[in-house]
Amino acid sequence: MRRYSIQNKIVLPFLLLFVLVSIFVPLITVELFAWKYSEQFTRETQGWINVIIDTGYIREDLVKVQQAYSVEVMIFGSDYTLNASTLTTLPDAEHNSDYLAEILRLDHIKQSLKNPDESSVTQDVTLGGKHYKVFYRLLPLGRLYCMLRPMEEITEAKRTLTLYMLGIAILVIALVAFISHRIGKNLTEPIKDLVGFTEQVAEGNLEEQCEIRTQDEIGDLTIAFNQMTQELKQSRDKLIQAERLATAGKMSASFAHEIRNPLSSMRMLSQMLMQKPEMSTEQRQSLQYILEEIERIDTIVKGLMDFARPVTLNLEQQPLVPILQSVLSLMEANLTHHQIHLDTDFSSDIPDFKFDSDKLKQAFMNIVLNAIDAMPHGGTLTVTTVQQDNRVYIKISDTGVGISETDIEHLFEPFFTRKTKGTGLGLANVKRVLEEHGGIVEIESTLGEGTTVTMLLSMGI
Ligand code: ADP
Ligand code: MG
Repeated sequence: MRRYSIQNKIVLPFLLLFVLVSIFVPLITVELFAWKYSEQFTRETQGWINVIIDTGYIREDLVKVQQAYSVEVMIFGSDYTLNASTLTTLPDAEHNSDYLAEILRLDHIKQSLKNPDESSVTQDVTLGGKHYKVFYRLLPLGRLYCMLRPMEEITEAKRTLTLYMLGIAILVIALVAFISHRIGKNLTEPIKDLVGFTEQVAEGNLEEQCEIRTQDEIGDLTIAFNQMTQELKQSRDKLIQAERLATAGKMSASFAHEIRNPLSSMRMLSQMLMQKPEMSTEQRQSLQYILEEIERIDTIVKGLMDFARPVTLNLEQQPLVPILQSVLSLMEANLTHHQIHLDTDFSSDIPDFKFDSDKLKQAFMNIVLNAIDAMPHGGTLTVTTVQQDNRVYIKISDTGVGISETDIEHLFEPFFTRKTKGTGLGLANVKRVLEEHGGIVEIESTLGEGTTVTMLLSMGI
């Protein structure tokens, strides 16, 4: 099927309609005008004949009538022979009584005129190449009086009017074509943009937004489409993240398993060696380092295993603040050691709600540990809780080094770390725990000023 653009669908019917209207209306007008004009023309000429007959002017020389009215006159005898005529310039073939009688249909006209209802009869003829309207009158002794009035005036008037009308019609059509083209263009340009944009989206480019050019339905469509693209991008990113997590989980599980067994043997053997009396102090010191490093690997492996293990929540109805306080008191020595001042503001009226205390402690501890790492030269750690409707916000702010804009997007990706001894699993775990609780975690940070981590928990689960 042939494909017409929207612009053509708008422009063509309009144009077709206007072409029809613009051509037919003038044609009909001209015809009506000509008809009216001809009626007036007939009436006027018949008036003249009446005057000529009533005043006896008919007996005057025909040339006088010709000059007075600008008409031609012919008088035929009862046998249709031409008695007198002002038309002297007719070609020979036409200047012949029989021919004239026939072309003027004298016989037929005479019959009609004898009918008392038909006092006047007219007919259009062409003589000597000119158009005339002929008016007949019956004279005494069966003679026929014919007045031939030239039709050039009507023809000329009709031609002039037609030309004017056509000129106007062409102007109107051009104007309509221009206006409908503009309207069509205005309508289709934003649609074309949107189509181009959808093609980009189909190719997988979800970064851009389509420019909103109009405040109408197409504008609404563009807004809806932009929103859809945004959501598509978010869900695609989420999917990628979930896939990464799943792969990371599987890999972590198998690595952790493989590493832990040899690690236990190494730890046991090192401890046994330490106990041997022949060991020198230096050797014992080296063994101590080995044991410390083994402990570090073990911590990382434990983290990996935690991460790999599917989260199964052990929900219990309980108060939140004591959980946070218990973690903070565990960290107290650590905080003092790093010259970090602790500031807390816990709202007292948070009702008990269901959550897994171990998992939440773990998440909270990861965040606090990150804050401590971010303040190597001391600072302030502020922990506050705010309750709003059935939601609790736990805000943990530090005055540490902050996070760069490029890093902030990757914080929750497993294994993303900027620390030489980091695992990059802390925040990935926090996110997982929060999501399992139906909550979210958000991080805001300014490089050189500090970081705020907000955990949002819903009390309705
Ligand atoms: P890890 O602590 O093992 O590096 P995390 O997932 O806990 O892994 O953190 C990932 C990274 O996020 C850190 O390496 C650090 O660069 C950055 N980060 C997290 N919390 C903070 C914070 N409070 N201040 C500055 N940087 C932070
Ligand atoms: Mg961490």
